[in-house]
Amino acid sequence: SNKWAKVMSIVKELDDKCSTPLGKLRQVADAMAVEMHAGLASEGGSKLKMLISYVDNLPTGDENGLFYALDLGGTNFRVLRVKLGGKEKGVVQQEFEEVSIPPELIDGTSEQLFDYIAEALAKFVATESEGLHPEPNKQRELGFTFSFPVKQTSIASGTLIRWTKGFNIEDVVGEDVVAHLSKAMQRKGIDMRVTALVNDTVGTLAGGRFYNKDVIAAVILGTGTNGAYVERASAIPKWHGPLPKSGEMVINMEWGNFRSSHLPLTEYDIALDEESLNPGEQIYEKMISGLYLGEVVRRVLCKLAEEASFFGDTAPSKLKTPFVLSTPAMSAMHHDTSPDLKDVASKLKDVFGISNTSLKTRKVIVDICDIIASRGACLSAAGILGILKKLGRDTLKTGENQKSVIALDGGLFEHYTKFRDCMEDALKELLGDEVSETIVIEHSNDGSGIGAALLAASHSQYL
Ligand code: ADP
Ligand code: MG
Repeated sequence: SNKWAKVMSIVKELDDKCSTPLGKLRQVADAMAVEMHAGLASEGGSKLKMLISYVDNLPTGDENGLFYALDLGGTNFRVLRVKLGGKEKGVVQQEFEEVSIPPELIDGTSEQLFDYIAEALAKFVATESEGLHPEPNKQRELGFTFSFPVKQTSIASGTLIRWTKGFNIEDVVGEDVVAHLSKAMQRKGIDMRVTALVNDTVGTLAGGRFYNKDVIAAVILGTGTNGAYVERASAIPKWHGPLPKSGEMVINMEWGNFRSSHLPLTEYDIALDEESLNPGEQIYEKMISGLYLGEVVRRVLCKLAEEASFFGDTAPSKLKTPFVLSTPAMSAMHHDTSPDLKDVASKLKDVFGISNTSLKTRKVIVDICDIIASRGACLSAAGILGILKKLGRDTLKTGENQKSVIALDGGLFEHYTKFRDCMEDALKELLGDEVSETIVIEHSNDGSGIGAALLAASHSQYL
């Protein structure tokens, strides 16, 4: 019928526009490597901020004592308590608590957000059990994982450049986020010092390195997406400080803000961006990460409803609500293996209030999820290839037995199996069999929390 011809033509066009053949992915990877150079060369030299983390030493395993970490970066925040036992014992004990952030706090005031966090932290501190106290006369120390673009001014201070991932709290932009947290801790009567401020990618890199010395980069695929890696300090022209003894510096790429003419952008991405809180920014992130994948799918379904009567004569009203289709719901539909696609049917009912869809309709929806998820997965693989290229690790060096491990974390990577598999397959194809053998993607489960605690330890005021 006419309806299905129109449906198929819209889906076909989507599929074409989203296609990511290897040649295109290589162009994206090359562009990423070029932007990395530019961002390291000068302040503002690229859309990639290539932020200097002030982490010039990654954990060695010698870290010792009781440390806290606080991880703020998306939908939830976590507080952690880690007991480190040095070389012999490693992580002796860890406890954590996860607290969700009430939606009204992500665009309220600084005081509201940080007081809420400090209060949760105070409650958590109060649950310290026997053997899990700091040494007498020592202040508690905290690694603060703050996963937004920050211009660090030292290992334990830095100003917020801008919010991402739907956060919008104006009175923090341009200010030291550690000062904001510290003041809230004082207000809540917590005696604790922030000794390390780290991005989650940097924390994940540190946590990964603690367990595996071959870890050279970290990538987050969660609410947002970002990468960090270990750079030679001498390869950072914009760094005018003293060269660190290690000769290395961890760089927080802020790769979510990458953009290139090679990215397969569609009308849906452009509209999503224009209507977002941060138009023109985080274009790569908006094609890849968990906050946005479901929303892109929803926009495609809207077009199908309006232009091809995909869900009947009138488009269901709930379909028009931005962000109603979460990425976990999209993932559930995408992974539906039942013959009648009953999970798709139940998500359509729960999310959009749509019932009585045909199997044919549900199949098209699975196809759309596949197109959007695969594109994001392939683009993240290209980003990883970009890092490997920058480090010269995308080719084999004769006589060297080199291994490169990339620590991956984030809810999208962890739970969206098809996304993860597609990303790993694409990376293998891009690298070829021989090089692939030397590159390992390692899931670093909550490495960023442990990593922040380790960095708090290695930057303790008592060393
Ligand atoms: P954050 O990035 O906020 O620090 P996480 O790393 O836990 O937190 O990632 C959470 C994100 O992961 C969610 O916003 C969601 O987009 C994505 N996610 C979580 N569970 C799933 C799932 N089952 N399928 C697909 N995506 C998921
Ligand atoms: Mg996180």
